[in-house]
Amino acid sequence: MHAPYGPLPEGGSIRPITRWGTPVMHRPLTPVTSFDDPLRALAADMVATMYAADGVGLAACQIGEDVAMFVFDCPDEAGERWVGVVCNPVLTLPEGKDRQLDSDEEGCLSFPGAFTDRARPDHARVEGVGLDGEPVVFEGDGLLARCLQHESDHLAGKVFADALSDRARKRLTKAQAKVADEFAADWPVTPRRE
Ligand code: ZN
Repeated sequence: MHAPYGPLPEGGSIRPITRWGTPVMHRPLTPVTSFDDPLRALAADMVATMYAADGVGLAACQIGEDVAMFVFDCPDEAGERWVGVVCNPVLTLPEGKDRQLDSDEEGCLSFPGAFTDRARPDHARVEGVGLDGEPVVFEGDGLLARCLQHESDHLAGKVFADALSDRARKRLTKAQAKVADEFAADWPVTPRRE
């Protein structure tokens, strides 16, 4: 496992996941300025919630907090596992001839159980700040590239359905409606019904 800036914080509580449509999901989040114990406790809750929901990444707005921070535990194309905490990320994507799109299935814990193909650049780089205020950089390909983009989008107030056509968004909404009752309102505090 690659954890260049240390392991993910532990000991957090599982919290209900905020769903699309809640205002905090659809506006840019407030940059982090204090790298203190409450921030560390929030990150620990985000980690616990991400694992409880079987996710590979989670943004603070997904547990209702207006804080520009995400956590992730996600493999790259080679299957190498990367973990980290990023505050105030700046996302850089390949341009020109280096820009290759990769279309793959994408979902979101805040719209659980529905997936759609989404084309995104196959490489991403995120520069930000870690929990102790130190600069951090993560970059990679495969699912990691998708995750870094998806979580950075959350902090900018965007969800992946925003980029879909009306028809694709309708299809996604239908798919989610079919499985909606498998997820309690406080999921993953109450686990998914199997
Ligand atoms: Zn998401």
